[in-house]
Parts: sequence; structure tokens; C-alpha cells
Amino acid sequence: MGTPFEGYVKKKDYLICIDSDGCAIDSMDIKHIRCFGPCMIREWGLEDHEEEILKRWNEINLYSMTRGINRFKGLAEILKEVSGKITPIEDLDSLLKWVDEADELSNHAVEKAAKEQGSICLEKALHWSEAVNRAIKNLPEEDVKPFDGVKENIAKLHKTCDIAIVSSANYEAVKEEWTRFGLICHVDIVLAQNAGSKKSCIERLLTYGYDRDKVMMAGDAPGDMDAAEKNGVFYYPILVRREAESWSKIQEAAGRLREGTFGGEYQQALIDEFTSNLS
Ligand SMILES: [Mg+2]
Repeated sequence: MGTPFEGYVKKKDYLICIDSDGCAIDSMDIKHIRCFGPCMIREWGLEDHEEEILKRWNEINLYSMTRGINRFKGLAEILKEVSGKITPIEDLDSLLKWVDEADELSNHAVEKAAKEQGSICLEKALHWSEAVNRAIKNLPEEDVKPFDGVKENIAKLHKTCDIAIVSSANYEAVKEEWTRFGLICHVDIVLAQNAGSKKSCIERLLTYGYDRDKVMMAGDAPGDMDAAEKNGVFYYPILVRREAESWSKIQEAAGRLREGTFGGEYQQALIDEFTSNLS
């Protein structure tokens, strides 16, 4: 396989970058509600306080400014709360220290750290993370779909703008989903986990000659906004629990991008609405 950018050509003056999970594809709620949270309850035997803990898990990972954080960071957050308010978590400090200090937060990295330190909590974190992966794999295919309006709106945007998927999910999974939903024909390039961070993907796309004020990133999480801001491009938020409404208004955003009226008041109003929706 070539590099993710191989053969890419700028065709239009305007570029719209689109995140996949939780932005175009309704896959985030289901993964957290059915996989991440319940697997954590099981791994740490927290069934007696299940409702309260799952509610907090979903708030941390879906409905607040920490939306979209790394799974191990989310785990450290919730277990810290559980340990402080509900029941002690054995060897929690090893996990807190690891998420703070490790360069890489992945299954591979946690496995290595668990062995090196002989840590019970890190071992359970690995076991949990593997169970989550299995649970996600077993989700019924038909339960994951694009949000309403995604297909029509991307097709329309593609008439005047280049379209790039900019996602931190697995490349094959993103490609497969966008193909299955008939969206891939409206996409010029697929940039996923193997292409680097969202920030570096946008940075690299800009080298193809787009003006910064003709580029916007559409995303659902603070990390997407951050990637846009760091590159000096516009951010169009897809609001959690109001995704279809956000997609129905994306043509106005694209219109403003083309007319040069996105910056200033309009951008600020979008950001204000995004942050207030996550608090
Ligand atoms: Mg997302």
C-alpha cells in the first residue's frame, strides 16, 4: 500500500475535512453505551453501582468537553471517581501514573507496562480494552449508520469543494463503512489512523495549495476543533444529540466559506454553541 497521500490532487479551491466516528457515522454512542461502559462494570465488578457509574462514563466520553478522549484516559478518570466516591480500586495509582506519563496509550503499550510493573490495575485495563474491542466487533452491522442528511449533504458539498475524511479511527474500518453507506464516491481522500494526527493531516493537505480561509473541518469533538484551530482553518461543529440538525445547516457554512464570510462572528457563534452543548 502506498502512503495515504499518494496520488492526491487538489481539484477545487475549497476543502472540507470531515471526521468519521460521531460526526458522519453514528457509531460513538453505541460503542460507549453498549461496549466501553458495560465492559468496565464487568471487569471491576461494579454491578451494584452500575447505573450511576455508566451515567458518568457517558458524560465523560460523550457529553462533555472530554468527549473523544483516549479510552485509557477515560478509564483513569472514571476509576478515580469510583475510587473516591464509591469503592476503592486496587492498584489505581499505577494506571493514573501510566496514562499521565506514557508516550503511547494503546493495548500494546499497556500490556508491556503491566508486565514490567506486575500491575494488577494495568492488567485489568488491558483485559477491559480487549473485551471492548471484541464487543465492538460483535455489534450488529445494521446498528451503525450515518446520521440523517449526511449522504445528501456531502454529495452537495462535493460539487464545489474537495472532500477529505480526517479521522483517527482504523483506516480499513473507515473505508469499509464509507463504502457500505455509499459515501465514498463523494470523498477525494481517506486519512485515518495510519496517516497521523488530525492536526498533521490538515497541515499536509494545506501543502497542496488551499488557502487557509477556504478550508473547514467538520467534527464532533474538541480534538477536531483543536486540529482546525492549530492549522488556522475554520471549524464546523456537529453537535452531539443534534447531529441531523447540524448536518442540515452545513450548506450555510459552505456558502459562507465560498463567500468569505465564515470568520469572525459566525465562527465564534458556532464555537460558543459547540462548547455550551458539551457542558
Ligand atoms: Mg469524532
